[in-house]
Amino acid sequence: MDNNRTKRVKSCVFRQRNMALKSVMNKLLDITHALDESSIVAITDQAGVIQYVNKKFCEISGFSYEELIGQSHRIIKSGYHEPEFFQEMWQTISQGEIWKGEIKNRAKDGSIYWVQTTIVPFLDESRHPYQYISIRNEITERKKIEEKINFIAYHDSLTGLPNRRAFTDQLSQAFLEHKQPSVMFMDLDRFSMLNDSLGHIFGDRLLQAVAKRFRQFAAKDQIAARLDGDKFALLLPDAQKIEVEQKALEIIHTFKKPFVIDEYDLHITPLIGIVLADDTDETELLLKKADTALFHAKEQQSPYVFYTSDMNNSAFDKLLLENSLRKGLQRGEFVLFYQPQIDIHTRVIVGTEALIRWKHPERGFISPAAFIPLAEETGLIEEIGEWVLLTACRQNKQWQDAGYPPMRMAVNLSSRQFRKGNLVETVDRILKETKLDPQHLELEITESMMMNVEPAIETLYRLRRLGVQISMDDFGTGYSSLNYLKKFPINRLKIDQSFVRDIHQGTKDSAIVTTIITMAHNLKLNVIAEGVETEEQLSFLKSQYCKEAQGYLFTPPLPAEQIEERMHSFKSPAQ
Ligand code: C2E
Ligand code: MG
Ligand code: MG
Repeated sequence: MDNNRTKRVKSCVFRQRNMALKSVMNKLLDITHALDESSIVAITDQAGVIQYVNKKFCEISGFSYEELIGQSHRIIKSGYHEPEFFQEMWQTISQGEIWKGEIKNRAKDGSIYWVQTTIVPFLDESRHPYQYISIRNEITERKKIEEKINFIAYHDSLTGLPNRRAFTDQLSQAFLEHKQPSVMFMDLDRFSMLNDSLGHIFGDRLLQAVAKRFRQFAAKDQIAARLDGDKFALLLPDAQKIEVEQKALEIIHTFKKPFVIDEYDLHITPLIGIVLADDTDETELLLKKADTALFHAKEQQSPYVFYTSDMNNSAFDKLLLENSLRKGLQRGEFVLFYQPQIDIHTRVIVGTEALIRWKHPERGFISPAAFIPLAEETGLIEEIGEWVLLTACRQNKQWQDAGYPPMRMAVNLSSRQFRKGNLVETVDRILKETKLDPQHLELEITESMMMNVEPAIETLYRLRRLGVQISMDDFGTGYSSLNYLKKFPINRLKIDQSFVRDIHQGTKDSAIVTTIITMAHNLKLNVIAEGVETEEQLSFLKSQYCKEAQGYLFTPPLPAEQIEERMHSFKSPAQ
């Protein structure tokens, strides 16, 4: 009896549920009809078995109605999404919630299509889903455009490697996943020199070749990226020190093979900075540390350097300096100081050397040694150098116009300025603009600028033809190839202060100084000693017939007004 009653109750519930289902089904079909024609509709049971598909579903998937009914919804799975993606979806809908998302599906012929999907669960009285309806709209075209934009946003257009943004994102991802990532920054030694001397097109091709070789070091899950310029990076999301070190060694070894671009064999030396994350690291900090390690590798010319906490943050300082250097140039924060050059016998000022100073609003005067190398590296030196040349020539002309006896103005050139094609034209233009007689301008070059001998000689001759003088600064510290010295059309040798400093009778340095003076006389070159600080040094130079000197013994570099005062006092003994 009891049993029968139970059966009756059950069948009644079943009938009621069926009726409810039917009404829902009808409602659904209404929705389906109401949907826009392009909508792709499917109904599955609670296990995901397809019960209904519309025409559009068949069209886009390439399957017939019969092929789909009774099949698992997985029939159109592309394999693109991670298992977690579907887990999250099932979790949502099985709890009776609506799920929305974008799914990549695969058609019968293997082609891929994207659909914007909404899945609505239908619930029984106890709120359990017994059916799901999915309504999809194709978004393949939009996805393609998005993928293209994404590619551009996350890749470097020259090499096709992931860019800085992609690299940073992946690094952040590694931290989110509680991994201990390692980062390797690689820079190419002497790249900017090659780029300048061989041209940017050539430089670009070299970077492409480097990228090709570099990307092979990114194993699965690792990222090889180009951050900017000649800076490449490798992310190892979870690697031990030994593995990272091994990788650095492999890179160094592989780069020993020259890059062949056109007919040139280019030997490129990579310099590598490495950092291994510790528990306190996060993305920005780790990147800064990698920069610092790279900076040290470059400074020490070591093939690879691991970051250690005692390294100062000089790479970061460098970045700050570069930014304020640009601003300083715009705001007119540079000034020239002038250091007199004295005739040893008459003590008359025969010239001055223009030495740049940076009047930093917060840090006060900054010496050129602190910013000229960076200005060289960034190319800012071209603008700075031209400003120096113009200001110095204008100052010299002003002194002459004010009635001071004409003297030469020595201006330091940087290697980048010297290599630049339009140096001669720039000098010519500035001389004309300031109306300074070319014989009163002396350009200081250094031996290292003469490495590329033939074009350098050509530039020197062209400068000489303008009527300007040339001196070889810091002589004795560079290559000092006496053979070449004969070929260079220079007027004066400046003996480097390091030799002058240690002049005492009988020392090795005094022998060098004597040799330089004698040799200069033989080559009919003038000589000036720089960095003269003591009377002892001066009398030694005098005994060796060195005619001119420059140094603190006479005057330090000073602003123009103070030089004028000195000119009065220096003129007097000779008058
Ligand atoms: P430099 O051309 O060899 O300049 C001589 C340096 O020796 C100057 O340093 C000067 O202040 C310093 N000096 C002068 N007399 C003495 C002395 O008696 N004892 C000692 N110990 N030092 C003395 P400063 O002004 O710091 O310049 C350093 C270097 O920066 C210069 O060496 C030059 O290579 C570069 N530089 C300066 N101004 C310019 C510029 O306008 N353009 C370029 N490209 N380089 C510049
Ligand atoms: Mg100099
Ligand atoms: Mg010097």
